[in-house]
Amino acid sequence: MLPFFDARKQWAEIGPDALKAADRVGRAGQWVLGQEVERFEAALSEITSLPHVVACASGLDALEMALRCAGLSSGDRVLTTPLSAFATTLAIVKAGGVPVFIDVDSCGLLDLDLAREILKSDPGIRYLLPVHLYGFPLDASKLRRLASDFGVTIVEDCAQALGAAFQSTPAGSSGKAMALSFYPTKNLGALGDGGALATSDATLAAQARRMRDYGQSAKYVHAAFGMNSRFDELQAGIMNGATLPRLDAWVKRRLAVDASYRSRIKNSAVKPLTGPDPVGSSRHIFPVLVKGGRDLFRRHLERAGVQTAEHYPRVIPQQPYLLEKGGFEAKTSLRYAEQISAAEVSLPLHPWLGDEDVTRVIDAVNSWRP
Ligand SMILES: *Cc1c(COP(=O)(O)O)cnc(C)c1O
Repeated sequence: MLPFFDARKQWAEIGPDALKAADRVGRAGQWVLGQEVERFEAALSEITSLPHVVACASGLDALEMALRCAGLSSGDRVLTTPLSAFATTLAIVKAGGVPVFIDVDSCGLLDLDLAREILKSDPGIRYLLPVHLYGFPLDASKLRRLASDFGVTIVEDCAQALGAAFQSTPAGSSGKAMALSFYPTKNLGALGDGGALATSDATLAAQARRMRDYGQSAKYVHAAFGMNSRFDELQAGIMNGATLPRLDAWVKRRLAVDASYRSRIKNSAVKPLTGPDPVGSSRHIFPVLVKGGRDLFRRHLERAGVQTAEHYPRVIPQQPYLLEKGGFEAKTSLRYAEQISAAEVSLPLHPWLGDEDVTRVIDAVNSWRP
């Protein structure tokens, strides 16, 4: 079976370097928030083109801290997408905000034209949390115009979009702050959990540094709200020594696999999704919309030895926690989000797919008959 994500192949590639990094960290004798974390943050700053990076325990925490440090307080309403990882909305809820959902466009991304209408008619919405879903970069100029025309504070969810750019404008550079995740399956995955917030705002970054460490302004002085979202030296060391040096090569391989799928998948019942700037995608996920029953399609691929996934099988406002708790709004019909959510299948897309693997996936997809 060709796995959707291949942690063992990743280890086969990075293992020796990761062990070397672990030894280096062990000898240095510091386990959290040390030199390795600082080096990692500096490297991310280069990659994101944002001057301040604060590494933390997860993408969820990075989003929550970004919202809180951007000024969100209890009861503030946040315009966001119903089609994403649940963490996007959970961060709003944890920070005390009220998620306000509107529909996505045909790419599966938050519909920014619809967002403009809603922000115009409802000036009580002060925050916007868009997601560069699947690695498809949202239109940066539209995002910037929303910020300047309506004064909304934007926090960008870039968990799937490290390295993505809309017409050369990096995803994550249009708002007040952005959040990254290093969950193992992400384009830059840790051997465990991790996340980071990136921003051009030095004050916000300083606030986030305190927040991730109990809100300490000095040792044993707790000046503000805090959490424990420190980042491990071991994870940072492995990133510095084993994964970051390979990131360019891995992205190149993702690009090649994505290009093969796009040119060789030929089946009128299987439609690959594309973002508004296909060139600038980070190629995190390869989503297709399937006719003839998603479960049957997935079983067909499984019989051909190909494991697939779904992003995401249930729109966020339909999640049991929210249905029970309430405390959210849906401002428009969520027709597109529901359609995509019901028909989307993600094909394997990672750097450890060989050419034969890619051909196996393509043959399996092309032989699907609804
Ligand atoms: C992975 C992901 C997150 C959450 O990141 P974690 O590190 O798992 O907390 C948030 N948003 C999106 C779009 C994601 O894909």
